[in-house]
Amino acid sequence: MKNHVNSNYSKSLRRRAVFIDRDGVLCEYKEKIIDLRDFVLRENIGPAIKLLNEHHFLVFVVTNQPQIAKGGLTLELLSKQHEYLENFLSQYNAFIDKIYFCPHREFGEIKEYVMNCDCRKPKPGMIQKAAQEYLIDLPNSFMVGDSWSDTECGKTMGLRCLGILGGCGYPYTPGTMEDCKQPPDAIFSSLKEAALSIINEEGIRY
Ligand SMILES: [Zn+2]
Repeated sequence: MKNHVNSNYSKSLRRRAVFIDRDGVLCEYKEKIIDLRDFVLRENIGPAIKLLNEHHFLVFVVTNQPQIAKGGLTLELLSKQHEYLENFLSQYNAFIDKIYFCPHREFGEIKEYVMNCDCRKPKPGMIQKAAQEYLIDLPNSFMVGDSWSDTECGKTMGLRCLGILGGCGYPYTPGTMEDCKQPPDAIFSSLKEAALSIINEEGIRY
Protein backbone atom coordinates (compact mmCIF):
# COMPACT_ATOMS: atom_id res chain seq x y z
CA MET A 1 0.00 0.00 0.00
CA LYS A 2 1.30 3.42 -0.90
CA ASN A 3 2.09 5.49 2.10
CA HIS A 4 0.91 8.79 0.72
CA VAL A 5 -2.63 9.86 1.41
CA ASN A 6 -4.72 9.93 -1.71
CA SER A 7 -6.55 13.26 -1.89
CA ASN A 8 -9.99 11.70 -2.37
CA TYR A 9 -9.34 9.47 0.58
CA SER A 10 -8.31 12.39 2.77
CA LYS A 11 -11.35 14.32 1.54
CA SER A 12 -13.63 11.55 2.70
CA LEU A 13 -12.05 11.66 6.14
CA ARG A 14 -12.88 15.32 6.57
CA ARG A 15 -15.52 15.99 9.16
CA ARG A 16 -17.92 18.87 9.39
CA ALA A 17 -17.34 21.13 12.34
CA VAL A 18 -19.32 23.60 14.41
CA PHE A 19 -17.26 26.47 15.79
CA ILE A 20 -19.02 28.00 18.79
CA ASP A 21 -18.35 31.36 20.36
CA ARG A 22 -18.30 31.21 24.17
CA ASP A 23 -19.46 34.42 25.84
CA GLY A 24 -23.11 35.09 24.98
CA VAL A 25 -23.64 31.67 23.38
CA LEU A 26 -22.43 29.01 25.83
CA CYS A 27 -22.58 31.33 28.82
CA GLU A 28 -24.42 34.56 29.57
CA TYR A 29 -22.67 37.58 28.09
CA LYS A 30 -20.97 39.79 30.66
CA GLU A 31 -18.43 42.55 30.31
CA LYS A 32 -15.97 40.60 32.47
CA ILE A 33 -16.05 36.94 33.39
CA ILE A 34 -13.41 36.30 36.01
CA ASP A 35 -14.72 34.16 38.89
CA LEU A 36 -16.70 30.98 38.34
CA ARG A 37 -19.78 32.72 39.77
CA ASP A 38 -19.69 35.10 36.76
CA PHE A 39 -19.58 32.13 34.39
CA VAL A 40 -23.29 31.34 34.06
CA LEU A 41 -23.99 28.69 31.45
CA ARG A 42 -26.96 29.18 29.13
CA GLU A 43 -29.88 26.78 29.11
CA ASN A 44 -29.81 23.62 27.01
CA ILE A 45 -26.19 23.84 25.88
CA GLY A 46 -25.69 20.22 27.09
CA PRO A 47 -28.39 18.69 24.86
CA ALA A 48 -27.36 21.01 21.99
CA ILE A 49 -23.73 19.88 21.99
CA LYS A 50 -24.73 16.26 22.50
CA LEU A 51 -26.83 16.47 19.32
CA LEU A 52 -23.80 17.72 17.40
CA ASN A 53 -21.56 15.01 18.91
CA GLU A 54 -24.07 12.31 17.99
CA HIS A 55 -24.20 13.55 14.42
CA HIS A 56 -20.40 13.32 14.16
CA PHE A 57 -19.69 17.02 14.00
CA LEU A 58 -16.42 18.19 15.45
CA VAL A 59 -17.28 20.77 18.11
CA PHE A 60 -14.87 23.61 18.81
CA VAL A 61 -15.09 26.66 21.03
CA VAL A 62 -13.43 29.79 19.61
CA THR A 63 -13.30 32.64 22.08
CA ASN A 64 -11.58 36.01 22.43
CA GLN A 65 -10.37 36.46 26.03
CA PRO A 66 -8.67 39.87 25.98
CA GLN A 67 -9.01 40.12 29.78
CA ILE A 68 -5.90 37.96 29.87
CA ALA A 69 -3.82 40.66 28.14
CA LYS A 70 -5.55 43.32 30.25
CA GLY A 71 -4.48 41.51 33.40
CA GLY A 72 -8.03 40.91 34.66
CA LEU A 73 -8.08 37.17 34.03
CA THR A 74 -5.34 34.58 34.49
CA LEU A 75 -4.81 31.46 32.39
CA GLU A 76 -5.44 29.48 35.57
CA LEU A 77 -8.89 31.03 36.12
CA LEU A 78 -9.74 30.59 32.44
CA SER A 79 -8.85 26.91 32.60
CA LYS A 80 -11.03 26.56 35.73
CA GLN A 81 -13.95 28.02 33.75
CA HIS A 82 -13.33 25.56 30.94
CA GLU A 83 -12.97 22.63 33.31
CA TYR A 84 -16.34 23.61 34.82
CA LEU A 85 -17.87 23.83 31.33
CA GLU A 86 -16.54 20.42 30.31
CA ASN A 87 -17.66 18.79 33.58
CA PHE A 88 -21.10 20.30 33.12
CA LEU A 89 -21.33 18.96 29.55
CA SER A 90 -20.18 15.49 30.60
CA GLN A 91 -23.41 15.16 32.63
CA TYR A 92 -25.14 15.09 29.24
CA ASN A 93 -22.49 12.85 27.65
CA ALA A 94 -21.63 15.89 25.55
CA PHE A 95 -18.10 17.06 24.82
CA ILE A 96 -16.07 19.72 23.08
CA ASP A 97 -13.26 18.49 20.84
CA LYS A 98 -11.05 21.49 21.59
CA ILE A 99 -11.28 24.96 23.05
CA TYR A 100 -9.31 27.65 21.21
CA PHE A 101 -8.91 31.02 22.88
CA CYS A 102 -7.18 34.27 21.98
CA PRO A 103 -5.55 35.87 25.04
CA HIS A 104 -4.32 38.90 23.09
CA ARG A 105 -5.16 42.57 22.84
CA GLU A 106 -3.32 45.49 21.29
CA PHE A 107 -3.11 47.33 24.59
CA GLY A 108 -2.86 45.85 28.06
CA GLU A 109 -0.83 45.07 31.13
CA ILE A 110 0.55 41.61 30.46
CA LYS A 111 3.33 42.22 27.94
CA GLU A 112 3.52 38.64 26.73
CA TYR A 113 -0.06 38.90 25.42
CA VAL A 114 -0.09 42.49 24.20
CA MET A 115 0.09 42.28 20.43
CA ASN A 116 -1.82 42.69 17.20
CA CYS A 117 -2.28 38.95 16.75
CA ASP A 118 -3.79 36.86 13.97
CA CYS A 119 -6.22 34.99 16.19
CA ARG A 120 -8.46 37.67 17.72
CA LYS A 121 -11.83 37.42 15.97
CA PRO A 122 -12.82 38.72 13.44
CA LYS A 123 -9.39 37.52 12.31
CA PRO A 124 -9.56 33.84 11.35
CA GLY A 125 -6.45 32.49 13.15
CA MET A 126 -8.27 30.16 15.54
CA ILE A 127 -10.23 28.52 12.70
CA GLN A 128 -7.04 28.20 10.65
CA LYS A 129 -5.30 26.54 13.58
CA ALA A 130 -8.16 24.05 14.02
CA ALA A 131 -7.99 23.31 10.28
CA GLN A 132 -4.27 22.52 10.66
CA GLU A 133 -4.89 20.25 13.63
CA TYR A 134 -7.99 18.39 12.38
CA LEU A 135 -9.27 17.26 8.99
CA ILE A 136 -12.23 19.62 8.61
CA ASP A 137 -14.73 19.97 5.79
CA LEU A 138 -14.73 23.76 6.07
CA PRO A 139 -17.26 24.62 3.32
CA ASN A 140 -19.85 22.46 5.09
CA SER A 141 -19.01 23.69 8.58
CA PHE A 142 -20.61 26.34 10.76
CA MET A 143 -19.79 29.29 12.97
CA VAL A 144 -22.28 30.01 15.74
CA GLY A 145 -21.87 33.34 17.47
CA ASP A 146 -23.58 36.35 18.96
CA SER A 147 -21.66 39.17 17.31
CA TRP A 148 -20.55 40.63 14.02
CA SER A 149 -16.96 39.54 14.66
CA ASP A 150 -17.98 35.87 14.74
CA THR A 151 -19.80 36.26 11.43
CA GLU A 152 -16.92 38.11 9.81
CA CYS A 153 -14.44 35.49 11.01
CA GLY A 154 -16.66 32.65 9.78
CA LYS A 155 -17.30 34.25 6.40
CA THR A 156 -13.57 34.77 5.86
CA MET A 157 -13.15 31.00 6.24
CA GLY A 158 -16.17 30.15 4.04
CA LEU A 159 -18.29 28.85 6.93
CA ARG A 160 -22.03 29.11 7.22
CA CYS A 161 -22.71 31.61 9.98
CA LEU A 162 -25.53 31.37 12.49
CA GLY A 163 -26.36 34.18 14.91
CA ILE A 164 -27.67 33.59 18.44
CA LEU A 165 -29.92 36.06 20.22
CA GLY A 166 -29.39 37.05 23.82
CA GLY A 167 -25.68 37.76 23.76
CA CYS A 168 -24.06 41.07 22.90
CA GLY A 169 -24.70 41.32 19.18
CA TYR A 170 -28.27 40.72 18.01
CA PRO A 171 -30.46 42.51 17.42
CA TYR A 172 -27.87 45.02 16.40
CA THR A 173 -27.56 48.18 18.39
CA PRO A 174 -26.54 51.22 16.34
CA GLY A 175 -22.97 50.76 17.64
CA THR A 176 -22.60 47.17 16.55
CA MET A 177 -24.48 47.77 13.29
CA GLU A 178 -21.65 49.98 12.05
CA ASP A 179 -19.21 47.10 12.52
CA CYS A 180 -21.48 44.57 10.88
CA LYS A 181 -20.24 44.20 7.32
CA GLN A 182 -22.26 41.06 6.64
CA PRO A 183 -25.19 39.58 8.53
CA PRO A 184 -25.37 35.94 9.63
CA ASP A 185 -27.09 33.46 7.30
CA ALA A 186 -29.76 32.76 9.92
CA ILE A 187 -30.55 33.80 13.48
CA PHE A 188 -31.76 31.55 16.31
CA SER A 189 -32.76 32.14 19.90
CA SER A 190 -30.39 29.53 21.35
CA LEU A 191 -27.59 27.11 20.56
CA LYS A 192 -30.12 24.27 20.83
CA GLU A 193 -32.25 25.74 18.04
CA ALA A 194 -29.18 26.30 15.91
CA ALA A 195 -27.99 22.72 16.52
CA LEU A 196 -31.40 21.33 15.55
CA SER A 197 -31.25 23.30 12.32
CA ILE A 198 -27.70 22.12 11.60
CA ILE A 199 -28.52 18.43 12.03
CA ASN A 200 -31.77 18.68 10.14
CA GLU A 201 -30.63 18.63 6.52
CA GLU A 202 -33.99 20.05 5.47
CA GLY A 203 -33.19 23.07 7.57
CA ILE A 204 -29.90 23.79 5.87
CA ARG A 205 -30.88 26.13 3.06
CA TYR A 206 -28.87 29.17 3.84
ZN1 LIG B 1 -4.81 36.34 19.54
